[in-house]
Amino acid sequence: MKIKTAEFVISNTDIKRCPTDQIPEYAFIGRSNVGKSSLINMLVNQNKLAKTSGRPGKTQLINHFKINDEWFLVDLPGYGYAQVSKSKRKVFQEFITEYFLKREQLVCTFLLVDSRHEPQKVDLEFMRFLGEHEIPFMLVFTKSDKLKPGAIHKNLKIFEKKMLEAGWGAIPRAFVTSATGKDGKDELLEYIGELNTM
Ligand code: GDP
Repeated sequence: MKIKTAEFVISNTDIKRCPTDQIPEYAFIGRSNVGKSSLINMLVNQNKLAKTSGRPGKTQLINHFKINDEWFLVDLPGYGYAQVSKSKRKVFQEFITEYFLKREQLVCTFLLVDSRHEPQKVDLEFMRFLGEHEIPFMLVFTKSDKLKPGAIHKNLKIFEKKMLEAGWGAIPRAFVTSATGKDGKDELLEYIGELNTM
């Protein structure tokens, strides 16, 4: 899929105020600092559509971007950032939970994980939440340029093992990406393009 247009539409914490267009929607989520903003900007060929920063935990809103006038890319807040106060985290959890449970346009969620790390407790908890509610998700391994190809493969295997130990029967499709090297971009966009036609 070629990206022709990518526009910011609205940011909020209230699902009732999310766009009402009946077009397919794809959510991007992961731990703070996983490289989500960089990945989104890489996917849509822009430097600043999603904000990137060295300061984790900054984006705390549901951000809707309309792509090619055909689908929404949704940038959700990063989770698992210790320096966000407990009360604020609870509010996030509530509106993120509501988003996942009520957003009918949501076709698929892309769960971002850092290629260098094993799945963390918060990642496994979040996957469990998605699984329990039958919300489809795919894995996106980020920052692959920081590892040698052999090491990435080894880490994917460890990830798979941990998911199986956590009770998953199989692991979802996984994309290996690097925002720096633009790796995985075509595969991800092609996949979204396929889902859009279903
Ligand atoms: P977010 O908090 O998940 O949105 O993460 P950001 O996109 O802001 O990235 C967090 C940090 O990781 C920044 O310093 C980025 O420059 C860096 N980063 C993000 N993606 C990549 C990548 O693919 N490769 C490398 N080497 N660094 C990355």
